[in-house]
Amino acid sequence: MRVWLNGKLVDRSQAKLTVFDHGTLYGDGVFEGIRAYGGKVFQCPAHIERLFASAKYIRLAIPYTKQELTQAVGDTLEANGVTDGYVRLVVTRGEGTLGLSPFKCTSPSVFIIADQIALYPDEMYEDGMAVIIAKTIRTSARMLRPSVKSLNYLNNILAKIEAVDAGVAEAIMLNEQGNVAECTGDNIFIAAGGKLVTPPLTADILGGITRRVVIELARRLGIETIERDIRPADIYAADECFLTGTAAEVIAVTKVGDRLIGDGAVGPITRKLLDSFRAFIRSGEDL
Ligand code: PMP
Repeated sequence: MRVWLNGKLVDRSQAKLTVFDHGTLYGDGVFEGIRAYGGKVFQCPAHIERLFASAKYIRLAIPYTKQELTQAVGDTLEANGVTDGYVRLVVTRGEGTLGLSPFKCTSPSVFIIADQIALYPDEMYEDGMAVIIAKTIRTSARMLRPSVKSLNYLNNILAKIEAVDAGVAEAIMLNEQGNVAECTGDNIFIAAGGKLVTPPLTADILGGITRRVVIELARRLGIETIERDIRPADIYAADECFLTGTAAEVIAVTKVGDRLIGDGAVGPITRKLLDSFRAFIRSGEDL
């Protein structure tokens, strides 16, 4: 495997950062998880835009242009012969001192890994997945905007640990208001009365790129999406529930805690969206 590191493609064994990198010392950095399908990077402009927006929020100047990073993502995929796979693009604050100040860091470290990813087993896409509602509350925008994809994922990791402890693959996280925010690495939708409902960007969520694609695909199918606050009880009462994310794609949730959603099988709207998502991937269209 060859990793793109600070402008060069190097062998995996040479792809190393110093222990003094503030990405390691403090989780000070930003990242993107990106998919490639059929040799094309999925929604690349949106991912690059979000990376730069995240970096701007934490006052990190990325030492490459958007075009250069787009090219670098393509080069990394090509160097590894990956046409269908997953790309991790990371920008850390770079080497600094043991103090917190990011302004003592010399220059950001940028690296890109192209690999395969299979987040959930195939059967889960057919049969749906069970999740729990985590006790860990999603970081609020008043603390650290969840729309910033930073290297600080401990909030989500704590919720993920709850899921693993409960023997399920994902956990729904509530925000400070007790409304549904998202899962640890995916956005959430419910279907009720033939319409989709998903928490708004103000519900302390990451504005998912897959979420945006799914809302558009639903629109094309004549299915309206309402962005409004959801309570856990709304999920229990929903006909269907599904998650969206770059790694997860679109996956049905058929059980939350002890409760079956709908009749406990993958519902017709989720199935339709899954099919149209797969067709959209093949089309290579950028939204
Ligand atoms: N929420 C969180 C917390 C995430 O980390 C992610 C990305 N893995 C998502 C939602 C989904 O976003 P996207 O569709 O852009 O991958």
